[in-house]
Amino acid sequence: MALHIHTPLLQSRPLSLLTGKTVWLKMEALQPVGSFKIRGIGAVCETYARQGKTRFVSSSGGNAGIAAAYAGRQLNIPVTVVVPETTTARAKALIEQEGAEVIVHGASWMEANALAQSLLDDSSAFIHPFDNAEMWAGHGSLIDEAVEADIGFDSVIVAVGGGGLLSGVIAGLQRNGLGQLPVLAVETNGADSLAQSVAAGKRIELPAITSIATSLGAKAVCENAFAVTQQHPVRCATVSDAQALAACEQFLHDHRVLVEPACAAALATLYSGDAALLSEFQRPLVVVCGGATATLEQIQAWRKQLG
Ligand SMILES: *Cc1c(COP(=O)(O)O)cnc(C)c1O
Repeated sequence: MALHIHTPLLQSRPLSLLTGKTVWLKMEALQPVGSFKIRGIGAVCETYARQGKTRFVSSSGGNAGIAAAYAGRQLNIPVTVVVPETTTARAKALIEQEGAEVIVHGASWMEANALAQSLLDDSSAFIHPFDNAEMWAGHGSLIDEAVEADIGFDSVIVAVGGGGLLSGVIAGLQRNGLGQLPVLAVETNGADSLAQSVAAGKRIELPAITSIATSLGAKAVCENAFAVTQQHPVRCATVSDAQALAACEQFLHDHRVLVEPACAAALATLYSGDAALLSEFQRPLVVVCGGATATLEQIQAWRKQLG
C-alpha cells in the first residue's frame, strides 16, 4: 500500500464566488505528513527499501525531512535528518515525532547537506527534497486522482520551490493526455528562482533567499523544472510575502485549514492576484500543497512585522 492517501477534491465556494470561476482545491494539506511530499518521497523510499537499503538520510529541515522520517517509520527503516541551526523547534519536533534522528549542524543548508552526504555508505540512501524523476512520477498521482474524479479542470495553479512538485504536476498531466493544459507556477518574491530563470531564458541561481516562505527557498530550481517550462505551457507568477500571509489567514477562515505561506502563495493568485493572469482559466485546479511547519502564532507575528 502506498504511503500517501487519496486526498479530498473540494470545490471552493468562497474562492469561486470571489473570482467568478469554478475553483477546485486538491487538499494535499491533509496528507498524513501535512504536505504533498509524501507522494513522491514515499515512492522513492519504497523503492530503496525493496533494494535493501537500511538507512535513509535527508538534509531537509522542512516538509521533505518530515516525509522521509514518516516513510522510514512506516517501512521500518531508520532515518537521519541533518538540519541547519536555523531550523525551527517545531520542524525538529515534527521530524523527531516520526522517530527519526535529528542532527543539527551548520549555519545553512549547505553545511548540513555536506554532513548528510558524508554519512552515506552503500547501505544507506539519500532522499533528495526535489530532484528525482521517480519522485516526480509519485507527485503526479495527485493529478491522476483529479483526472479520475472527472471534474473538468482547465488549468493547474501550483507553488514552486525546487520544482519537484511542478515536475510532478506536469508528469501527471502528460501521462493523462493533458500535455496542453496551462500551468501557473507561483513563487514568492525573494524565492523566485523559476520566474527569474524563465525571464533570463536560462536556469539562474539566486544570490540569497529573502522570502519568509522557506519551503520555496531553493536558490536554483532543478534542471527538469526549467526544462518543462520550455516544453509545456507554464506561466510564472510571483506574489509578495504579505500577500501569501494574507492568503494563509483567509484560507484558514474560508476552509479551516492552516497552510504554510509557501502553499498560500498559490492561493494568493486567487485571493489578491492579478486578474489578467487568470483570465484564460475558468476551472483552475489549485494544488493546496500544505506544509506542516506553519503555526498560527508565526503567521500572525510575520503579518505584524510586514505591517
Ligand atoms: C516542498 C514544498 C513546496 C515546493 O515544492 P518543490 O518540489 O520544492 O518545488 C511548496 N510548498 C510546500 C508546503 C512544500 O513542502
